[in-house]
Amino acid sequence: MERDEWRKLSLLEAKRLLDSGQVGALELTNACIEAMEASRNLNIFITETPENARLQAQESEKKLKNKEGGVLEGIPLAIKDLYCTKNVRTTAGSKILENFVPPYESTVTQNLLDAGAVFLGKTNLDEFAMGSANITSFFGPVISPIRSTQNPEKSLVPGGSSGGSVAAVAAHIAFAATASDTGGSIRQPASFTGLVGIKPTYGLCSRYGMVAFASSLDQAGPVAKTVRDAALMLSVMASYDEKDSTSLKGNRPDYLKNLNPSAKKLRIGLPKECFENLSDELKVVLESSCQTLRDLGAEFVDISLSMLKYSLPCYYIIAPAEASSNLARYDGVRYGFRAENVGNIADLYAETRRLGFGKEVRRRIFIGTYVLSQGSYEAYYVMAQKVRSKIRQEFEETFQRVDVILTPTATCGAFGVEEGPKMSAVDMYLNDIFTVSANMVGIPGISIPAGTTQDGRPLGIQFLGARFSEQTLFNVSAAFEDATRLKN
Ligand code: GLN
Repeated sequence: MERDEWRKLSLLEAKRLLDSGQVGALELTNACIEAMEASRNLNIFITETPENARLQAQESEKKLKNKEGGVLEGIPLAIKDLYCTKNVRTTAGSKILENFVPPYESTVTQNLLDAGAVFLGKTNLDEFAMGSANITSFFGPVISPIRSTQNPEKSLVPGGSSGGSVAAVAAHIAFAATASDTGGSIRQPASFTGLVGIKPTYGLCSRYGMVAFASSLDQAGPVAKTVRDAALMLSVMASYDEKDSTSLKGNRPDYLKNLNPSAKKLRIGLPKECFENLSDELKVVLESSCQTLRDLGAEFVDISLSMLKYSLPCYYIIAPAEASSNLARYDGVRYGFRAENVGNIADLYAETRRLGFGKEVRRRIFIGTYVLSQGSYEAYYVMAQKVRSKIRQEFEETFQRVDVILTPTATCGAFGVEEGPKMSAVDMYLNDIFTVSANMVGIPGISIPAGTTQDGRPLGIQFLGARFSEQTLFNVSAAFEDATRLKN
């Protein structure tokens, strides 16, 4: 196999080559670094860390030789630039953190390092993870490595906010990447780029060291080329962490070891609300997906989620409210960007925030401040929280009757980079119509590739499950992946 072909393997295939000594960790890392440097036109990385990567790979090589390697020993990964990485700049895609170098490591990235992973660099994202197309980053948009077959010159968005992470994996620069999901930022970009992405149960992965957007909704998770790769990644990323007060106690299972690819007798709920007004292309993909699952022995149950339509409006009250509070810390005093030539402290705050935050972030701060202000608090914030409990209740009741719920991940395939800025804010928000509920309710959701549009742009389907049903989601997804790969 050619050196440049290695990086096109799945993570598990690369792991086999590394573990058996057929490929050296440094050689593999160098191939990925070359690919990273050759793809700079896609603007995938905000910070490249090739020197660190080579040092880590050399360490891994020693460990692999002595058969002391961790489960990800020598595997090159990309890290969303929202995870604090010790002594490596972490920007969250914002000017306000342009020069921020954290003195500590996030728990999730520490877990990956402990397992022997090699970090290639920090990937681009929508500013503070607010967006669905990776066009709000201070560092410019990410261009997807995926192209339409009919219009190959046109640049497409990779989805967002984890656009750099999915692009790094889809371009075969990294074998997998970390991402984060507050309303869909793992699953929608995975759908746009033909990858697997899972947002786990709230509290499964530690949020310590992740730049906060909306604390009751944010969750870490991986994007990967295959279901099995994602299962391995999540097994390493997830852990109980006393440094995060919302981290759930208890051991995390090894999702890969326990994998049982099957959909036999699985009760899959089809919410009628998610199958209305879909494009013909999406309908075709969903129908064939259902057929595949039926052939695998799944049973379908027609369900209705009448509260679903309230998820998105409530999300856009709760997420900005939490964001306005979380982002209050960026005041130009303690760290990050600071405005110059200001006369007094009030002007320092105002100017720093006006110049340091982009338009979308400022919009969210305005909305959040408004819905939390006296006079609006009861009408908006408290009401949204009440509706959130109702949504949760409806999901809990539904999971008495079905094992998983199937929906499309997004309403469409990737759109053009030029089209993004022309969309209204609300049209952009509508990208997350099928994904936000999982965050509102705290349940896991996985997006897996299910087909393409007529011009070859990937389309994903999503499985949602009750809290802690990650293993079930991996099992049905692996069965689906095996069946569809065989078909192709
Ligand atoms: N697109 C959604 C938003 O802009 C979700 C983003 C996310 O999951 N981080 O809020």
